[in-house]
Amino acid sequence: TTFEALPLAAPLQRALRELEYTVPSPIQAQAIPLLLEGRDLLGCAQTGTGKTAGFALPILHALHEKPRALKPKSARTLVLAPTRELAVQVAKSFTTYGKHVRFRQTLIYGGVGQNPQVSAMRPGVDILVATPGRLLDLIEQRHVDLSGVEFFVLDEVDRMLDMGFLRDVKKIVAMIPQQRQSLFFSATLAPNIVQLAEAILKNPAKVSI
Ligand code: AMP
Repeated sequence: TTFEALPLAAPLQRALRELEYTVPSPIQAQAIPLLLEGRDLLGCAQTGTGKTAGFALPILHALHEKPRALKPKSARTLVLAPTRELAVQVAKSFTTYGKHVRFRQTLIYGGVGQNPQVSAMRPGVDILVATPGRLLDLIEQRHVDLSGVEFFVLDEVDRMLDMGFLRDVKKIVAMIPQQRQSLFFSATLAPNIVQLAEAILKNPAKVSI
């Protein structure tokens, strides 16, 4: 199949043409149609498989189709990543694939001053990419409000658990609305990871490559 055959909005098709992406990777070909239908997803995939575009494109499509006024301190999309490096990479992917879509995005991670992150969240964002610890700090200080999350992505969950973020992730999940679309990616599916996925996802489609 080709990207042109997928029902992605014109501004995304244009970005893909400019990037000279023609053929979806296996995980993209499986995941994108399911995500466009609104399904939850459990993805077993390593980095380098194209999983980032696999979730970024359907989310950008949904944001383009349903633009909404932003709520102060809120995020329509929350992506949790285990490290600052991965968070930055994911945010760059949204910028690349969404270059012809109008959306507001910011990043939250630890190890740097919080004030610029607090300021960036004040008007609200379409997409927030965050690491769990600093995100919880800012929520507890009432600088971030997760009550408006529509799309929730957990990326590299196995690494997130290796880094000791299980409790933080559970606290964050408890603060986002039940009615949402959730995406869960892990390179491995050990029993504790499957258990966490089951607590977060509703009738998920499963894709693995
Ligand atoms: P990811 O696994 O999402 O980090 O993607 C790995 C690399 O593959 C990134 O550099 C992407 O820009 C690139 N990529 C992702 N999907 C495609 C595609 N369908 N065609 C060509 N390159 C792609």
